[in-house]
Amino acid sequence: MTFRVEVVCLHEGGEQRCSVAELDRAELVLETLGLSVAEGKSTLHGIQEFVAVQQVIEDLRRRRVCPNCGRRYHSKDAGTHTIKTVFGAVEVPNPRWESCPCQTEGPRTFRPATVWLQEAPTSPELLYLETKWASLIPFEKVVDLLKEVLPVAEATNSQTVREHLHAVAERIEQELGEERPPRDFATVESIAELPLPDGPMTVGIDGGYVRAAHKQGNFEVIAGRSVVAFRREEGDSVPPPKCFGFVQTYDQKPRQRIWEVMKSQGMQENQQVVFMSDGGEDLRQVQEYLHPNGEHLLDWFHITMRLTVLQQQVKTLQADRPDEGSASSKQIVSIKHLLWHGNVDEALDRTDNLLMDLALIGRQSAPAEKLAAGISDLRTYIGNNRGSIPNYGERYRQGETISTAFVESTINQVVSRRFVKKQQMQWTLKGAHLLLQTRTKVLNNELEDVFRRWFPRFRPKAQTDSSEQKAA
Ligand SMILES: [Zn+2]
Repeated sequence: MTFRVEVVCLHEGGEQRCSVAELDRAELVLETLGLSVAEGKSTLHGIQEFVAVQQVIEDLRRRRVCPNCGRRYHSKDAGTHTIKTVFGAVEVPNPRWESCPCQTEGPRTFRPATVWLQEAPTSPELLYLETKWASLIPFEKVVDLLKEVLPVAEATNSQTVREHLHAVAERIEQELGEERPPRDFATVESIAELPLPDGPMTVGIDGGYVRAAHKQGNFEVIAGRSVVAFRREEGDSVPPPKCFGFVQTYDQKPRQRIWEVMKSQGMQENQQVVFMSDGGEDLRQVQEYLHPNGEHLLDWFHITMRLTVLQQQVKTLQADRPDEGSASSKQIVSIKHLLWHGNVDEALDRTDNLLMDLALIGRQSAPAEKLAAGISDLRTYIGNNRGSIPNYGERYRQGETISTAFVESTINQVVSRRFVKKQQMQWTLKGAHLLLQTRTKVLNNELEDVFRRWFPRFRPKAQTDSSEQKAA
């Protein structure tokens, strides 16, 4: 049997028909049931072309007479415009008309489609899909994915996808406005004067490296996550954590960037901000630039990570010397316990004791020597950050944040998974920075809202809500 897919345009009593596909079906096997992807793609492309052209013809018909005097515009030349959509490239009429004689000023001819077309080469929805997926997976993979399931234009390649993402990111960056002066941030005095804002806002900052293009080595990328601990008003929901990222040596407005993220989570002018990091000196400097009056704490996540690594080294020692191994393991557990309660001095004493025990056997045991080196690093780390180690247990009981990297490190979520997994990937400062902007919008579930702001009829919100309800 044969199926013919026909599109019918009904308009003002008349109708316009177009056959877009014909499907032949003989013997039924599982793989010939219904439409194949290829047939689906070509059918969608056919429908898209017909619908788009009919829409444009109708729009031109409505614009055909001068709104001033009612005279019909004369045609200067025909012309077309190709626009890339999710269902393929479509060529639509884009004529040039002569201006009406009743208008003495302005250009002699004009293109009426410019009003809605704005010379855009790509539809918002395609731009959205390309940007969203390129924020999550490599550019070449996005091209593979789109081409495999949608009838996107054959000319789509990783370079065009990259350019589209950059254009979106640049527009997001422009909307950010100018860098914020440091005086805008609350001082301890002003915090005391004003009524209490919502629960402490904690910003975790992490740094990572990505490989630079043109054999320029590596450059640093900063990633952060902003967390609100609780709301003062009962029943107010706590907003989800949000992440941000930037290339320090490229970004002109990191303060404004982080300000906008915190503002979207309900930050108030007198909000006190607690910064958390792994305690590295360079990150401390970034934090001081971002928020001169912020408090600095060591992220509990980074302490536990270090202790976990040490416990792994203990296992090697345990295999070698079971008694000393289990004794060391107990000591590390107790160091962790002391740090959890902010007892830095006792934790350092315990560390020294453990180092002495290990020194006794270190000469005869390579694993003990290796563990001692690790413990010694930990001692330096704790000592350097002693002013940034609070009573985590107390904070935790108060419902305050002790870590912004609950499941995995912020740098891994924001940066590593897209930037460094494939070693051959190389980045320019600008390219990395722009990708971080769209990537964080996607991770924060904000990209759709951005597009909705730019294109008010893009994926209407009420519609998505009701379909979500149905799905639930
Ligand atoms: Zn006129």
